[in-house]
Amino acid sequence: MIKLSKPNIGQHEVDAVTSVLMSGNLVYGACGQHFEEKLKEFTCSTNVKLVSSGTAALHLALLALDIGPGDAVIVPDFTFPATINTVLLTGATPIIADVELSTYSISWPNILDIYQNWKGKERIKAVIIVHEFGYPCNMTEITEAAKELGIKIIEDAACALGAKHNGRQVGTFGDIGCFSFHPRKTVTTGEGGAVVTESDKLAEKVSILRNHGINQSQKGNTFVQAGFNYRLSDIQAAIGIVQLEKLPAAIDSRTQLVAQYIQNFRGNHKIVCPSLVDGHSWQTFMVRLQHGVNRDSLIQGLKNLDIESNFGAHSLSSLKYCSHYKNGSASILNGPELYLQGLALPLCENYSHQEISKITDAVSTLLESI
Ligand SMILES: *Cc1c(COP(=O)(O)O)cnc(C)c1O
Repeated sequence: MIKLSKPNIGQHEVDAVTSVLMSGNLVYGACGQHFEEKLKEFTCSTNVKLVSSGTAALHLALLALDIGPGDAVIVPDFTFPATINTVLLTGATPIIADVELSTYSISWPNILDIYQNWKGKERIKAVIIVHEFGYPCNMTEITEAAKELGIKIIEDAACALGAKHNGRQVGTFGDIGCFSFHPRKTVTTGEGGAVVTESDKLAEKVSILRNHGINQSQKGNTFVQAGFNYRLSDIQAAIGIVQLEKLPAAIDSRTQLVAQYIQNFRGNHKIVCPSLVDGHSWQTFMVRLQHGVNRDSLIQGLKNLDIESNFGAHSLSSLKYCSHYKNGSASILNGPELYLQGLALPLCENYSHQEISKITDAVSTLLESI
C-alpha cells in the first residue's frame, strides 16, 4: 500500500529518545528548551512555547488573547475542525468565512466584508488564518487589513512549518502562530505543537496556561490561575530536534515530487492541480476533480490498487454542529466544493518518482472509466 504519508523516522530519533529515557527526566525540561531554541532559530521568532498538540496551541493562543464569551472570531470554511473547535471551547462565537479556491484562504476583501456586515451582538476580535496544506497565505495583505480593522490575527500554521511568505516563516506575521507535530505533518513528535509570538506578554500567558496555571519566578512556583497540562514531554522534544534538521531537505524533495505530479497530470482537464507559489511547504498534495467526477469512487478505485488517498480537509459549514455559525445569509460555496471534489494523494519526502508515476497512471486510467 502506498500510504498518504509516512513519518520519516530513523535511527537518530530512536537514539535521541533512548537517551531521554535513560536520563530520568521525561517531562518538559532540557530537551524541550533545546527544541524551543532550535525552533526560534528556524522561524526567526522571539518566543516559542512547546505544547502537546496543534489543537492545544490554538486553544492557548485564543485564551492568551483573552478571547471568550462575547467575542467573535472569523475562521475559514476549509480546514481541519480543530480550528473552529478551539474557538467554541473558549465560549466565543465563530464566524465561518468562505475561502478562495486557489489559496484555500479567506481573502482580505472577504474579511472586510464580514467585519462591515456582521449583525451579531458579539464583537469581532480576531481572525484565524489557516495556511492549509503548507500554502503560505498572503500575510502582507492580511496583516494590513487586520491592523486597519483593529482585529487580532492568529495563524493556524499547523501544517505549514517551513512555509514562507516573502521569505519569512508563516506563523510569525500575526499576533500569535500555531504549529502541529502530528504524524501527518512534515515534522512530527508523535503528538505535539508549538506557539510562536513576538509578544513576551502573550508568551508568558501561554507558558502559565500550558503548565497548570503555575507562574515560575525566582521566588519559586506559584499557582496563579486555573491552567491546563498542555506540556510536550522531553521524549517528544528529543524527536523534534532531530526531525527539524531534516525539514529543509524534506521540503525540497516534496517540491520535486509535486512538480512531477503536476507534469504528469498536465492536459487532463478532469483534474485541477493546486496553484504554485513561492515558499509552499507541501504538507499535502491535493487536486480538485472536475464537477461530475465521483471522488469517492476514485478513492475506492485507488484503494483497490493499493494506493491510499483521501479528501483533503473539511468544510466547517458542512458539519452539523457548526453550520449555523455564518455571517447572516452570506453563501459559502468554495469550501464545500474543495471538501467534496478535493483528492489528497500520497506525498512524502521518501517517495520515489516511480511511485508518483504509478499513482498518476492509476488516477488517469480510473478517471477514464468513472
Ligand atoms: C493538523 C491540524 C490541526 C490540529 O493539530 P493537532 O496537532 O492534530 O492537534 C489544526 N489545524 C490544522 C489546519 C491542521 O492541519
